[in-house]
Amino acid sequence: MFRILEPIPESLVYRYRPDAFRALYNNILREKLPWYYSVLLGEKPAKFLIARSVEAPLNPYDESLSLEELWAVHDKLALEHRGLWLDIREGLESFRGEEPRFSYLDVKIAIARKMLGKCELCEWRCGADRASGKIGVCRVAGDAIVYSFFHHMGEEAPLVPSGTIFYGGCPFRCVFCQNWEISQLKGSDYVKMPPKMLAAVQESLAGTGARNINHVGGEPTPHIPFIIESLKYLKVNVPQLWNSDMYMTPEAMKLLKDIIDIWLPDFKYGNDECARRLSKVKNYYTVVKRNHLEAYDGGLGDMIVRHLVLPNHIECCTRHVVEWLSKNAPRAVLNLMDQYRPDYLVLKEPEKYKDISRRLTRREFEEAMKISRDYGYTLIVEELLIIP
Ligand code: SF4
Repeated sequence: MFRILEPIPESLVYRYRPDAFRALYNNILREKLPWYYSVLLGEKPAKFLIARSVEAPLNPYDESLSLEELWAVHDKLALEHRGLWLDIREGLESFRGEEPRFSYLDVKIAIARKMLGKCELCEWRCGADRASGKIGVCRVAGDAIVYSFFHHMGEEAPLVPSGTIFYGGCPFRCVFCQNWEISQLKGSDYVKMPPKMLAAVQESLAGTGARNINHVGGEPTPHIPFIIESLKYLKVNVPQLWNSDMYMTPEAMKLLKDIIDIWLPDFKYGNDECARRLSKVKNYYTVVKRNHLEAYDGGLGDMIVRHLVLPNHIECCTRHVVEWLSKNAPRAVLNLMDQYRPDYLVLKEPEKYKDISRRLTRREFEEAMKISRDYGYTLIVEELLIIP
């Protein structure tokens, strides 16, 4: 079951980014992302395996159980999982890997299936009956929609090669979306994947050297029920990574928290108005801050937070995001991204979105870097990795 990373043969070194190699041996990153590294190196079991070992007191698939009853069982088992995870993390207990007939993970699966009948996984809470094939605001119905899966070599250095699965659909309508064919389900070249196939995809990615399974899109949130169920069948110990806009409801966060080993959240905007105008969502700032706090977990959650610096949004967005993170998630690794380019609706209506109708200037990115340093963030991934 446990996957030990073999020393990589020299003949394969050229396929990896040199900074991805250095990241494996970078002590600062290993201190910042301790759980992720311990699972990656095969020293600890991924959280979903621990969830599979916590016994449920009943059959959660019993149709007579209500959602409220299932949540009550879930929350009790969450405490048990927490204690076991902390003991395993601290080396106080070794993981035995025994799997009961029904586990904490089964309870999560049963809840997620029930939620499909009236979906409230993201803060749209649109209530679509996806179990009957109805489509939600995110454009996703009752199946996992996968556009592609592969070893992503362009992610942050500690994650590369990242076993990335691109799911279709998204609750956001970002006017500058670079993946709009996937997020808005405009491209027809996708596969509907049942959970067992999703598990097989993860095994093939992990078995060929992926350091993690990177659930992304579009947005993975609408796919939570299928992803959780895939973990019931997954036979390899590999860190689960959540690469998300973080617009989930508290219920969705509860389902995810005990199965995600490392978070790769996207913190786009520093206020609600920019989010409303550019991504067409309400209450963005409140929701995303709440979910970052939950993922950060008082410093126990491993996180690499991404902030895409937008032109003309340094003061209203970058400054607020970095300031909030520095106060509320100081141990998180921050990745400021400079690769914004106008795309999708911004290209069609540049006058309407004048503020973001051009690329970022060098001066703007330097200003964003300065703000980050002023708030104590020297811990930008690229900077870390030039440390010898
Ligand atoms: S995930 Fe999709 S279906 Fe579910 S509440 Fe959000 S928009 Fe609606």
